[in-house]
Amino acid sequence: MTAAHNVPAIALVEVTKVYPGEVAAVRDVSLTVLAGQVLAVVGPSGSGKSSLMNLMGTLDRPSSGRVELNGHDVAGLPDRRLAAVRSAWIGFVFQRFHLLAGMTAADNVLTASCYAGVPQRHRRATALEALRKVGLADRVDHLPGELSGGERQRVAIARALVNRPAIILADEPTGNLDTHTGDQVLDLLLGLTETEGATLVIITHDPAVADRADRRIEMRDGVVRADVPAGPGVAR
Ligand code: ADP
Ligand code: MG
Repeated sequence: MTAAHNVPAIALVEVTKVYPGEVAAVRDVSLTVLAGQVLAVVGPSGSGKSSLMNLMGTLDRPSSGRVELNGHDVAGLPDRRLAAVRSAWIGFVFQRFHLLAGMTAADNVLTASCYAGVPQRHRRATALEALRKVGLADRVDHLPGELSGGERQRVAIARALVNRPAIILADEPTGNLDTHTGDQVLDLLLGLTETEGATLVIITHDPAVADRADRRIEMRDGVVRADVPAGPGVAR
């Protein structure tokens, strides 16, 4: 837990998301994630996990209800403000890495950095520092195609961390990796989340992930069906 414990990092208030022509993917969900908390989100495919995360991350707007980040209601913000808030406060990690194929590891991380008024050499140094933290100091000039799956996901984690975000949102980050590599990536993500003092929301099918979270929610048909403390030895 960080010094800011018991402060909500993310609050969803009666949030519903209906995609055009679809039934509601998220139905009247109210949920508070505290600063420094590690929240595992589980549930079957199609239950609304990614939709929920996209709402938390302001990648999508709710059909109704309110989303608050660090105590700020973000619903009313125009797109450009929202994009600035997102890049300053949130780091994303996706199952399919979402790296730009034509760019080196360093440039992939660099493009994510917020750098108002920061000289180019400092921006690059910041990107290299993030890559060092994920153990890729010797891969900074490699293209994604020259890296293994685990290394690509570590670049994505470096990119997510480069702005020292308060919140990290990870959507099945080990879903495209073999078990051993997935475990390593998970160790890294959990370790860095703790050292950076960030809040982590992680969607996963892996029971081992839920064991290492502070709390676990289970989605079913767009609602939170269970919301329980997690951790080793907690019965499921
Ligand atoms: P999960 O991540 O748990 O697999 P999703 O949040 O991706 O679930 O999807 C929940 C429901 O919303 C599904 O029925 C899915 O088909 C639908 N859905 C998700 N994204 C969209 C979209 N962009 N447009 C229309 N329907 C969507
Ligand atoms: Mg999903």
